Amino acid sequence: MPDSKYRSLWAVALLAATTGCGAIGQSGEPAAATQSNAVGQPLKIVATTAMVADLAQHVGGEHVTVSALMGEGVDPHLYKATSGDVARLSRADLILYSGLHLEGKMGEVFERLARRKPVVAVTDDLSRDRLLRVGGEQYDPHVWFDVSLWGSTLPAVERALAELDPAHATDYRSNAERYQAELAKLDEECRAQIASIPESRRVLVTAHDAFHYFGRAYDIEVQAIQGISTQSEAAISKINELVELLSDRGIKAVFVETSVSERNIRALVEGCAARGHRVEIGGQLYSDAMGPSGTPEGTYAGMVRHNVETIRRALQ
Ligand SMILES: [Zn+2]
Repeated sequence: MPDSKYRSLWAVALLAATTGCGAIGQSGEPAAATQSNAVGQPLKIVATTAMVADLAQHVGGEHVTVSALMGEGVDPHLYKATSGDVARLSRADLILYSGLHLEGKMGEVFERLARRKPVVAVTDDLSRDRLLRVGGEQYDPHVWFDVSLWGSTLPAVERALAELDPAHATDYRSNAERYQAELAKLDEECRAQIASIPESRRVLVTAHDAFHYFGRAYDIEVQAIQGISTQSEAAISKINELVELLSDRGIKAVFVETSVSERNIRALVEGCAARGHRVEIGGQLYSDAMGPSGTPEGTYAGMVRHNVETIRRALQ
């Protein structure tokens, strides 16, 4: 189902509530029941990934409380909502998710909740021309690794908040603008760092295909063992192909990801060793999950900086 459908479900529920049709949600709660800001409380936002929560916190500032369902090291492609998650989502005023089928197993939960409250994919408004197509109408969901593209999701977050809480719309606008400017600087920083790696060594090999937007934005070739989702098994032929590429081109390092098993990357290292080419694990990248909260890598900007630094140091 296209992501935008959740929004229209919400619109129908809202209309039913305002016209007194008494739409009742699945849990028996009245539709559009409790909006925190109605009593001067911060809006309760629940995000799926920490990257989305980071956007919401920057735009919402003091007017919101934000939590993320998926913590450190959690793989969003495989994530299924627990009953505790459903309870948290039911209490939220607004649900934000990444979209483009990143949260591949949560569609049904979103659909159910969208009858009672806004459920918004932050990537919904991104122009499809800027996205990488992976066949048919499917797009690569890993948009947060092009910092400028990720910054383009800010208007959707701002609008979702302003619709729910129009009294603070000007704050949401200025917060979004401020964060957009910060991300523009971060984008420049990434470009400069990656450009400092000699061009022949600018090849990023990872466990799963999360870095194509990164590669396109910052001019580095990207190769991965698994496809854009972690759901399928890695093919032996792909591992052999990458062993050959690493050996032939003398690439020094490959990278593991915090949310994906290291097994396949270790197979690459061993395969190269068998051919007499020494390749090391250049470090751990945050691909689909951020670091622990309270550490620099527990913020979006910190996560991006950690990755770019790790890649530059290992490949230079
Ligand atoms: Zn992924």
